Amino acid sequence: MILIDGKKEAALLREELKKEVINLKAKYNKVPGLTVILIGDLTPSQIYVRNKEKSAKEVGLKSEIIKYPENIEEKVVIEKIKELNTNETVSGILVQLPLPKHIDKQKIIEAIDPSKDVDGFHPMNVGNLSSGYESSIPCTPLGCYLLIKKIEPNLSGKKAVIVGRSNLNGKPMTQLLLKENCTVTITHSRTKDLKTECLEADIIVAAVGIPELVKGDWIKKGCIVIDVGINKTDQGIVGDVAFDEVSKNAKALTPVPGGVGPMTIACLLKNTIDCFKRSQI
Ligand code: NAD
Repeated sequence: MILIDGKKEAALLREELKKEVINLKAKYNKVPGLTVILIGDLTPSQIYVRNKEKSAKEVGLKSEIIKYPENIEEKVVIEKIKELNTNETVSGILVQLPLPKHIDKQKIIEAIDPSKDVDGFHPMNVGNLSSGYESSIPCTPLGCYLLIKKIEPNLSGKKAVIVGRSNLNGKPMTQLLLKENCTVTITHSRTKDLKTECLEADIIVAAVGIPELVKGDWIKKGCIVIDVGINKTDQGIVGDVAFDEVSKNAKALTPVPGGVGPMTIACLLKNTIDCFKRSQI
């Protein structure tokens, strides 16, 4: 079984991006810029944002964090986003989720210029992705996609089962694999017989948030299994896939941690660079 090393793959991607930033600087005499807005003082969000800034600087991007207190008014955040939309030194804007309850997440997402939407959550980008046009792609599914392609470059005709239909993971993942000519089944909490669906799959992507939901006897021999889940348990952090059991049948499997997670931030940097490149045309 191939243990997919997300840390190594993310480091390789960051190296590629670093070289790309050097070339872009030589060509345009400027570097892509990422601005992250952080509202409130939730510890996980602070850690994510710090890691994003560190990685952005590592590959040579201009990086900025704008911090607001928990009780900031929605209109202040929207005004700031509008200002960033017109700022030429800002290639990508990300508002760290979750947001405080008094702020409307959808309004914030829609305030971001789609051409600077590095999270790929703006309806315009969602629509472009599902129509097969160029768009920003949500970072986690993009990371999963790149990991799958490393294992199996030709996905045409493969049967993929996506477990979970969130806007963040399951739905964009479906679109990415459809574009590769996979036959895709998207499953969710009302799916009648998840085991039978999974047993058909050449590729499984699990993004559910239930510890070790996907079992060893749900896996066809040779299946590629990507585990997006991050679940805190008494035994530590585990994924949505029962790792030990599934590793007996899978052709390739991502560990948790150290699988999909590291790719997510690397893909954010990729998206920032791609937004910059599109803005220079
Ligand atoms: P979500 O809660 O938005 O969606 C979960 C989905 O799972 C829903 O569509 C629901 O219908 C489905 N579901 C629930 N119970 C099910 C069941 N019994 N069978 C089949 N489907 C079921 O979750 P999300 O935001 O997509 O996150 C999923 C997991 O991925 C979480 O553990 C989250 O922490 C993790 N995550 C990891 C990364 C990363 O970088 N690795 C990024 C984002 C989210």
